[in-house]
Amino acid sequence: MTKEPLAIHGGIPVRKEYLPYGQQWIDEEDIKQVVQVLKGNYLTTGPYITEFEKKIAEYVGANYAVAFSNGTAALHGAAFAAGIQHGDEVITTPMTFAASANCVLYQGGTPVFADIDPQTYNIDPEKIEELINEKTKAIIPVDFTGQPVELDRILELAKKHNLIVIEDAAHALGATYNDRKIGSISDMTMFSFHPVKHITTGEGGIITTNNKEYYEKLLQFRTHGITRDRDKLIENHGPWYYEMQFLGYNYRMTDIQAALGISQLKKIDQFVETRKNYAEIYNNAFKDMEEVTIPYQMKEGSSSWHLYILRLNFNQLTASRKEIFEALLKENIGVNVHYLPVYWHPYYQELGYKKGLCPNAEKLYEEIITLPLFPKMSVLDVQDVIKAVKKVINYYSK
Ligand SMILES: *Cc1c(COP(=O)(O)O)cnc(C)c1O
Repeated sequence: MTKEPLAIHGGIPVRKEYLPYGQQWIDEEDIKQVVQVLKGNYLTTGPYITEFEKKIAEYVGANYAVAFSNGTAALHGAAFAAGIQHGDEVITTPMTFAASANCVLYQGGTPVFADIDPQTYNIDPEKIEELINEKTKAIIPVDFTGQPVELDRILELAKKHNLIVIEDAAHALGATYNDRKIGSISDMTMFSFHPVKHITTGEGGIITTNNKEYYEKLLQFRTHGITRDRDKLIENHGPWYYEMQFLGYNYRMTDIQAALGISQLKKIDQFVETRKNYAEIYNNAFKDMEEVTIPYQMKEGSSSWHLYILRLNFNQLTASRKEIFEALLKENIGVNVHYLPVYWHPYYQELGYKKGLCPNAEKLYEEIITLPLFPKMSVLDVQDVIKAVKKVINYYSK
């Protein structure tokens, strides 16, 4: 096969314009909804927050939802509501954004990393079981890339050992597990509304739960630990009176953000559908190439495809991941890598976590590239990505 000159060597790039790996979709209706709030009486903690929470709870099929200023704050709230504290261990995956583990540290607990299943890239339930001991308080599984974790097995372990499951579903709004929506299954589930996620509020996050006790703790936690609930007050000096009963934070979402969220949520099915279609186009384009492995999908789950990750088979390639990554960037394809194993971050290394802890995650990290995937990109953009990947991979093929 002839090898086209790569842009990195002075050839013509596949695209003239840079294509990012992820980006929001904001339309005129979204803008109208936000402007409406700006003209109204409440900028924060008004009617839109409650409506947004109700709509998200309805969409995922949960009893309650509590909105937060961002997904990380929401995870912190969930760790608090679960009662995680000094001396507690919480099992999570290293193949995630640092926030999944940081929320345990915020509460003084100890994150314990269980290795991933090399096929699904999700936390391996068997590895979880090996790590459970009398200090274990909770599990924080992550639906990596949008593919649900093996919830049946994880919830069974949790039940057996009396653990709380906080599902980090930042990637998985709209995903289903055995035909149930993610967000209705675990004790608490977190979604993020960062601009690269399925729907956005600029910054934002939410916890969904079926547990009233968690719900009430979360509400109070996001506003300094303050309550105005007459039935909960320890004293009551009059109508003005409120009490701070534990140390909470100001983690409130604004009404401006909630209005954007409500408007965005109307498009969620279309967003997920487009992501699925594009992922399928990628899968069909790459499935027969010996140099790469497409993402394996478990039959119990239906991914909402936050990320499309291609794994490189180095026994078929003459270049390193870095060289291939840089070559794709020069073709103007905004590739990325998700993620550095959490405990490889210098902060975690200083805490004493050692490299080598989770070999499957570490190996995966060395071999992956995230391709652009978001509803705003066009089919032509998808084809550009395919063209660039084939061009670069063909060039470096053995
Ligand atoms: C985005 C993300 C978060 C944090 O969400 P923010 O809203 O950015 O704070 C947590 N976990 C995972 C896996 C994420 O992708």
